[in-house]
Amino acid sequence: MILMKDIVRDGDPVLRQEAAKVSFPLSEEDQKLADNLMEYLKVSQDPDLCKKYGLRAGVGLAAPQVGASKMMAAVLVPSEEGTKSPFTDVIINPVIISHSVQSGALTEGEGCLSVDKEVPGFVPRHDRITLRYQDTTGETHKVRLKNYPAIVCQHEIDHLHGILFYDHINHDNPYEVDEGTIMFE
Ligand SMILES: [Zn+2]
Repeated sequence: MILMKDIVRDGDPVLRQEAAKVSFPLSEEDQKLADNLMEYLKVSQDPDLCKKYGLRAGVGLAAPQVGASKMMAAVLVPSEEGTKSPFTDVIINPVIISHSVQSGALTEGEGCLSVDKEVPGFVPRHDRITLRYQDTTGETHKVRLKNYPAIVCQHEIDHLHGILFYDHINHDNPYEVDEGTIMFE
């Protein structure tokens, strides 16, 4: 099971690398990695287990964050009070094939299991994306996501390209976003 000690922190070069494409059928090692990434998210979202294992709750975890430079990330966005549309899968070789012109950002900014300090500021992203990825069986999916799950996936896909969320924050005006940017929780 992945614990906080297994999560690579900012400053490690693996977080700044371009990850390698994953081939199918998945190797035993890659299947295990996929399972472990998703397991971390599930356990971390259970308040009792999260506390028991000393985890930070997460909705996404990318392979490079556990030191594996591979194009794979787990996403677990549960449906919550009907405000957030759910999206759960291990996304492999994901590509954003199209996106809205409109930007979106979280009112609370973003956090990352690999970044221990809080970095204040809005992180502008695409409000809506069409995502193509393969699941662990190799089946290709094309999904349209908006708002919160779209932001989470963009954050995770960034990890596969060596990008961290704070790279997107406007350093001169951290709370400045383009006109028309949708802000949501
Ligand atoms: Zn992250």
